Amino acid sequence: MVEYNHKESEVTIMEFNRELIKTDRNGSKHYIVTCSCPKCGGTGIFHYTYFNAQGVCFKCEGTGKVAVKEVIRTTEYEEKLNQRRLARQAKEREKKEIDREELINKVFPEGKVYITLGETYSIKEDIKAHNGRYDSFNGWYFTCAKDAQNFKTFAVDVKVASPDIKVTKNGYWITMVAVEKPREESKSQYIGNVGDKVEIEATFVRAFPIILVLVLFL
Ligand SMILES: [Zn+2]
Repeated sequence: MVEYNHKESEVTIMEFNRELIKTDRNGSKHYIVTCSCPKCGGTGIFHYTYFNAQGVCFKCEGTGKVAVKEVIRTTEYEEKLNQRRLARQAKEREKKEIDREELINKVFPEGKVYITLGETYSIKEDIKAHNGRYDSFNGWYFTCAKDAQNFKTFAVDVKVASPDIKVTKNGYWITMVAVEKPREESKSQYIGNVGDKVEIEATFVRAFPIILVLVLFL
């Protein structure tokens, strides 16, 4: 008789019988193991802590014994399975990378975003009508020059590397790095006149949920 601790309940399991059913082509041995019930510890009685009551164990139906299937694999086959799993995971990672690249290209077809400058509240509807999108950090922005042309914007290259993309339970989030918005009140030649489009070298610092953007695309 073999005794060991059940991995979940830490109840000591007593093994009464082990019957070899078959050895498959991978050399794995399939057993039916009769052992003491891990739920009631072989007593056939289960204590319901919540009700402060006890009753017939539902797992072994009061017999105190259960028959379980057990497969024991050879080390070689175990290693083979492990290799297969690693290969599968690598493939999945690769696919994810491709999906992300496609996502970036789809969301930012020009590789740029055009972030609005100045007061946008009063022209919000107009911006929306031109496919403008909003995020709490950058405010209203466009992803196509055509949409942005009637507004005062500055263009930023979207340099998103795959490692910068975080996947959350809400979908994809792009971590963009570093933008410094030109100051609205600046009257320097660099900024230009109202209506001009300004291009500066900058990067994003904030994330926004791409999944929302995608919904608009589909
Ligand atoms: Zn039981």
